[in-house]
Amino acid sequence: MLARQLIDSVFKPKTRRWKGFDVDVELKDQWLVDLNAIRGAHVVSVCSGHSNLGPDGITIAGGSQYPSVNFDVSGLEFAKAMTKAARDAQTKADMVSWGGPYENWVLYSNGKPRDDPHIFDADAFKKYPLESCRHSVLIDSKVPRRDGDDVQVAAWWEGLIQRLQRA
Ligand SMILES: [Zn+2]
Repeated sequence: MLARQLIDSVFKPKTRRWKGFDVDVELKDQWLVDLNAIRGAHVVSVCSGHSNLGPDGITIAGGSQYPSVNFDVSGLEFAKAMTKAARDAQTKADMVSWGGPYENWVLYSNGKPRDDPHIFDADAFKKYPLESCRHSVLIDSKVPRRDGDDVQVAAWWEGLIQRLQRA
């Protein structure tokens, strides 16, 4: 009962089916096709941004008011290149790198050892150098989604996709 109430209190956005996945209705097929076609990168999550959420609000799938896309990326150099290419005045991008025995510790942020790693192994940075980690590239618009801004949001996705395709 409690779990059900908690779930109901989290915003559940309107989704549609795309290639077997539930995606936010505002995401256009072409953006999904293009994001999924970037070689060496695998889309982990993508969110249209939700205008009815406040600054700290999240959806049941972890989305926020900001349009966002997260990738798993093979290869450190490509992850760095994607992160750099994604960044612009309207776009925040961070590379996080996972190591540890199960590759589930975030050891590095933007290529630098985290100063607050919640890990138990004092030698982790020696045992799991940046080059041996798997990498994620986390991209968010700096502009929250608002009603009636479809044209600006489309321009953001299309600009981002073009920069990523050139990375
Ligand atoms: Zn979403």
